[in-house]
Amino acid sequence: ASTWANVPQGPPAILGITEAFKADSFKEKINLGVGAYRDDQGKPYVLPSVRTAEDKVVKAKLNKEYAGITGVPEFTKAAALLAYGPGSSALDRVAITQSISGTGALRIGGAFLERFYPGAKKIYIPTPSWANHAAVFKDSGLEVEKYRYYNKDTIGLDFEGLIADIKGAPKGSIFLLHACAHNPTGVDPTAEQWKEISEAVKSGEHYAFFDMAYQGFASGDTDKDAFPVRYFVEQGHNPCLAQSFAKNMGLYGERVGAFSVVCADAEEKKRIDSQIKILVRPLYSNPPVHGARIASEILNDPALNKQWLGEVKGMADRIITMRALLKKELENLGSKHDWSHITSQIGMFAYTGLTPEQMDKLAKEHSVYATRDGRISVAGITSGNVKRLAAAIHAVKP
Ligand code: PMP
Repeated sequence: ASTWANVPQGPPAILGITEAFKADSFKEKINLGVGAYRDDQGKPYVLPSVRTAEDKVVKAKLNKEYAGITGVPEFTKAAALLAYGPGSSALDRVAITQSISGTGALRIGGAFLERFYPGAKKIYIPTPSWANHAAVFKDSGLEVEKYRYYNKDTIGLDFEGLIADIKGAPKGSIFLLHACAHNPTGVDPTAEQWKEISEAVKSGEHYAFFDMAYQGFASGDTDKDAFPVRYFVEQGHNPCLAQSFAKNMGLYGERVGAFSVVCADAEEKKRIDSQIKILVRPLYSNPPVHGARIASEILNDPALNKQWLGEVKGMADRIITMRALLKKELENLGSKHDWSHITSQIGMFAYTGLTPEQMDKLAKEHSVYATRDGRISVAGITSGNVKRLAAAIHAVKP
């Protein structure tokens, strides 16, 4: 028998949607499955600031030597500044490493906690969460537990359940928190609610692990979106953080990210730095340089930085506009349902509240493709397809 005769077939991944979409010959088919930004023509978008930065990087004719284990220092320094904010007390005591985008940052974080967290090696993630969170943390050797987050009756935040679960967890538990633009629900706590979450985490002597995959992409303002992270630091928490530049710089395939740990002081930072290096070295030795150089140009060149912030806002605004248009079109069709969650939710995704059966009908009868949990990527909506999308949703949920 073949060596691999007993390897079982795995279930199809999310990319199944893309395959079904490709196989559909209908001209006006709509793909709302992918978690990547599209312009109003439905095309992938390379930010002009990224093009300029990349030109600069290429023209500089830098060599292709290895970066250090923790990556391009100009990049990680600027990434920390972007996340924690100018003047943050975290900046001179944060241990940071470049990572293979947000996923890699979460994986390093998981491995670091598995090796060094003094309490239970268990991480609490929201219900629901990004589909990859559980797998990343399990493969890092952590146990994964859920906390309440989404209330399907209100299509909003289950704030009482969330607080109760934080308070009810054993002292010193690890909590994974989406900093902004919660994936897949698009439901974020308000600033006031974040303050209560911070209190609950503190009173439980818990540890906060922030996943910030959409800084700037949610509201259009990178400072506003970083509020929870910065507030926690102000309140005396020493969280860790996974950052991704996939969405806010559109650097998806370049795999640019960072993992950081806010330490008690500079001496602790030195020890954590050394252990992060010991952890990363056998994983992949050191990260790729090209994308980090692009991000570094954008973050460190004041003019380019300003341009980029405008482009981030442009992407966020297009998404916010499409949310409003979709809601309006549904109302124009005479839908009796309340669609206000479409505009109150934030970020790349809208959780429509449609059932798996309704989602199946959307695909089969209307050539509208998205995940069966009712999540649609608002980035896939355009002024050209929003009318047809609203009609399709109205038809499956009259
Ligand atoms: N966290 C969340 C919540 C995400 O939605 C994503 C991307 N879908 C990631 C992390 C990581 O993405 P990447 O590895 O492409 O940065």
